[in-house]
Amino acid sequence: MAPEDFDVIVIGGGPAGENAAAYAIAGSDRTAALVEHELVGGECSYWACMPSKALLRPVEVLGTARHMPGVEEKVNAYGLDTEAVLARRDGFTHNLDDSSQVLWADSVGIDVIRGTARITGVREVTVGDRVLRARHAVVLATGTRASVPDLPGLRDALPWTSRDATNVREVPARLAVVGGGVVACEAATWMHELGADEVTLLVRGSALLERTEPFAGELVAEKLRKHGVNVRFGTSLQTASRPGAADTGVGRIHGGPVTLTVSGDGSDSELTVDELLVATGRTPATTGLGLDLFGLPDHGYVGVDDHLTVTGVDGEWLYAVGDVNGRALLTHMGKYQARVCGDVIAARAEGRPLDGPRFVASADHGQVPQVVFTTPEVAAVGRTESQARADGLDTEVVTVDIDVAGAALSRDDYSGRASLVIDRATDTVVGATFVGSGVAELVHAATVAVVGKVPLESLWHAVPSYPTVSEVWLRLLEARRDR
Ligand SMILES: Cc1cc2nc3c(=O)[nH]c(=O)nc-3n(C[C@H](O)[C@H](O)[C@H](O)COP(=O)(O)OP(=O)(O)OC[C@H]3O[C@@H](n4cnc5c(N)ncnc54)[C@H](O)[C@@H]3O)c2cc1C
Repeated sequence: MAPEDFDVIVIGGGPAGENAAAYAIAGSDRTAALVEHELVGGECSYWACMPSKALLRPVEVLGTARHMPGVEEKVNAYGLDTEAVLARRDGFTHNLDDSSQVLWADSVGIDVIRGTARITGVREVTVGDRVLRARHAVVLATGTRASVPDLPGLRDALPWTSRDATNVREVPARLAVVGGGVVACEAATWMHELGADEVTLLVRGSALLERTEPFAGELVAEKLRKHGVNVRFGTSLQTASRPGAADTGVGRIHGGPVTLTVSGDGSDSELTVDELLVATGRTPATTGLGLDLFGLPDHGYVGVDDHLTVTGVDGEWLYAVGDVNGRALLTHMGKYQARVCGDVIAARAEGRPLDGPRFVASADHGQVPQVVFTTPEVAAVGRTESQARADGLDTEVVTVDIDVAGAALSRDDYSGRASLVIDRATDTVVGATFVGSGVAELVHAATVAVVGKVPLESLWHAVPSYPTVSEVWLRLLEARRDR
């Protein structure tokens, strides 16, 4: 077939790829092709952010209702209506139908091409028997997939990955979750509330959510345990055995019981469960992409500079955005990089200089916000105390309980904690962490303070409204002032 020409070719139609394509052609007559071999919308829309948050929101609402006199009397005898929760989740994932995303792509002038893409030359991408050529740029946005470690019997046992947990259709009575990170903690939270009677978290280290401030993981572990989840630190899965493993479909129990050998807790022990969820990390989708043509490894994350241009490839035509570059495995960060990348491609295509901060992905460095939607929620931005010290900053930390009128009003059992990491040299906030019900909405104020390098003496004049949970900002500033 004759080669087809586009200005920009994006490989991978997840949130990062969609945004890179849209920004690269916005307001111009440039053309873009978006190549996708599963669903346009990517992991986030169908198997990650959207379904997981659709499952967790009812957990938060019920938790609040259970601690609200006047409401709790009406709900305490009941749990979630699992069927209704799953149906709402299916609404958010459009029952794994991407036609609305394809319509959006079409509406902004992006051609969606179905199939698996690989790079076959400079500015050249092959999809099946179609050869696509890019006048300006090729963008890699292929994301990651769940890693399943190569342990004896594990892969043959067909364990669940995050795709099954987020698309759960059959709730196992006994579930083991391997991992102690965000996916493991969030999934343990929703699976327990959806009706899994016994949830066991097998955590290799001694803490949950190890990349956040230690108090965040401690509070989440405390609440999981209070709700009956068995959190086992210092344990590691050795073997799995499931004679009746069967590929029954995503989110369905994959055969009969699984027997696990677990080391740690002092000795090896066996654990038999109805399903096993492996949440031990992600693998970048780079194998088979053709990067070896340019002397780059065909596995692992793709290195980029702050314009999102792939390092080690000449000619400034190859870019990588989102999970695949490993800078911050979060949808909002992938979309941010995509905006920067799209603007860079547009400027280079028009011969404009890359003048100004818009063309530099600076937020990837020490300014990344993240929310973990556990009970309690964890919301953080920037550096933790240990990261700030490791970066050589003159670090000061203030930590307070979230004990303000807005918190007490929001639910009777409110408890939480907040901290600011301060760089004494500039007297600015370089990191913030909030743990508590509903703190997800607090983190953007902290992000503005960190990115804007707002001096603490100015924050003193940013008065939080009464009675809101935001008043914890005042407590933090007062704690600092009293020193
Ligand atoms: C359970 C879970 C919950 C999460 N929750 C959140 C959250 O609440 N908030 C948040 O910010 N982040 C969350 N994340 C992370 C988020 O899902 C990712 O950061 C985000 O999806 C990355 O977007 P992306 O566009 O880089 O990649 P993806 O969304 O993975 O999209 C990549 C796309 O590329 C396609 N593709 C790959 N290779 C090829 C190829 N060779 N040819 C054609 N197409 C290809 C894939 O089919 C896929 O559609 C969560 C992740 C998980 C696992």
